[in-house]
Amino acid sequence: MKKVLHISSECYPAAKAGGMGDVVGALPLYLPAAGAKSSVIIPKYANKWFKGKTFKAVAKGSFAMGPYQIDYKIQTLKKNTLGYDLYCVDLPGLFDRDSIYLDVDGHGYKDEPQRNIAFQTAVVDWLAKGKTSFDILNCHDHMTGLIPFMVKYATAYQSLSSTPTVLTIHNGMYKGEFDWKIANYLPPYSSQHDGILDWDHKINSLATAIKCAWKVNTVSPNYMKEIMRDAGPMTHLYHMEEHKCLGILNGVDTKLWDPSTDSFLEHKLQDHVWVKFKQQNKTALLKQFGLKSRRPLVGFIGRLTDQKGADLLAEALDQKLSSNANLSMIILGTGDVSIEARLQELAKKYPKSVATYIAYDEGLARSIYAGCDYLIMPSRFEPCGLNQLFAMRYGTIPVVSDVGGLVDTVPDISIKGNGIVFGHSNIYAIQHALERAIALYKEKNTFKSLRSKLVKLDYSWSKSAETYAKLYQSLINSKV
Ligand code: ADP
Repeated sequence: MKKVLHISSECYPAAKAGGMGDVVGALPLYLPAAGAKSSVIIPKYANKWFKGKTFKAVAKGSFAMGPYQIDYKIQTLKKNTLGYDLYCVDLPGLFDRDSIYLDVDGHGYKDEPQRNIAFQTAVVDWLAKGKTSFDILNCHDHMTGLIPFMVKYATAYQSLSSTPTVLTIHNGMYKGEFDWKIANYLPPYSSQHDGILDWDHKINSLATAIKCAWKVNTVSPNYMKEIMRDAGPMTHLYHMEEHKCLGILNGVDTKLWDPSTDSFLEHKLQDHVWVKFKQQNKTALLKQFGLKSRRPLVGFIGRLTDQKGADLLAEALDQKLSSNANLSMIILGTGDVSIEARLQELAKKYPKSVATYIAYDEGLARSIYAGCDYLIMPSRFEPCGLNQLFAMRYGTIPVVSDVGGLVDTVPDISIKGNGIVFGHSNIYAIQHALERAIALYKEKNTFKSLRSKLVKLDYSWSKSAETYAKLYQSLINSKV
């Protein structure tokens, strides 16, 4: 069976900040059935998950990074119940922090370039020693985007140059751009290859990976189409590399996201009685947050950013509630301080209609998926979006903008689909979608039969895992 190493900065349950963590934690569980054994390697953080575990050493090494000598250790869990091998890279002083990306001030770590380069060099350095080998290296997002370059062009790592690399883009907006001043932090390579690292006079990790990886995939087919049309200053690059690009839809780990066994839920689904399951969870949520009942409950979970349309949602909601719209809303997320403040202000203004919870809280997220009637995603762009899939699995109707992976997974009910879809995310479109949701809620039978339809849909990983496995095999075949 071919062996794949997923290289990532996130992997649920060890470290998750968003959808990439879900994907890297789930895909390896589904790949063996499709003929590919997966392992995962991530940095060793100092969060609760890592603190509660014991590790054993697999390897150690050191390398120069600019003026610094970096020592690293590769470790694995002493007792592993994850279902795949998880390696972590111990880099003291760089990753032994609680948060994955954000400093205590809520901004990204200032030493992000050093952290990313150190992690990637340590992984490649370890692989080049050759004691543990893999047939494919699957890099995830810009944080691992320099690896396809390192294995091709770093003089010390040439032994890896025939190992195929795949770049999976979970979010093309983040590029990992560094000033050229720190180019000497990279493992030595011939300066004739500088141009490969460069995009718009910066070292651009994502652009480098798009140039060097053997294949590039986004996490939904429609998002790939969208970035081919417009990826800002990188559109031209995507066009040049179009021959090796494809989109593979994300899936749901149906064992982990199972309303009948979800350990986060106080009220689990029993004997497929969905009405009771939804009622119990909705009642608990309304009570917890002091919200009005006898009206639809709409949830929002995610980063409070422009990408997710959280700013638009706040305005749309304010206008709707000021004209007494009959709905309650619960918002869970963290992000831009101005959007957080605006949403908290709304909760104060309409305490019986809006609850805003500023936190990252896996348990509450599960309760929202389980207890809401609708989940709204007014995203301006959405590479795949997992929330709508989790929502449907927990009997919650998605209300989504028609972008990215949302288009691939949520057709509108007017065309016999499974959710409420609105064009271009703007305040009026969101308001209209909420009106449709309120109207649908009143049609009890239609509402219930839509819910019954949702929970039977199959968005599991099995099909997409097969597509990944075929992709890996095609690269292995192309070597011969
Ligand atoms: P992203 O662009 O942030 O990766 P996705 O839709 O791909 O968005 O994935 C989001 C994942 O992160 C889902 O598992 C969602 O439940 C989770 N999530 C996002 N924000 C929060 C939060 N504040 N608390 C708990 N889970 C969250």
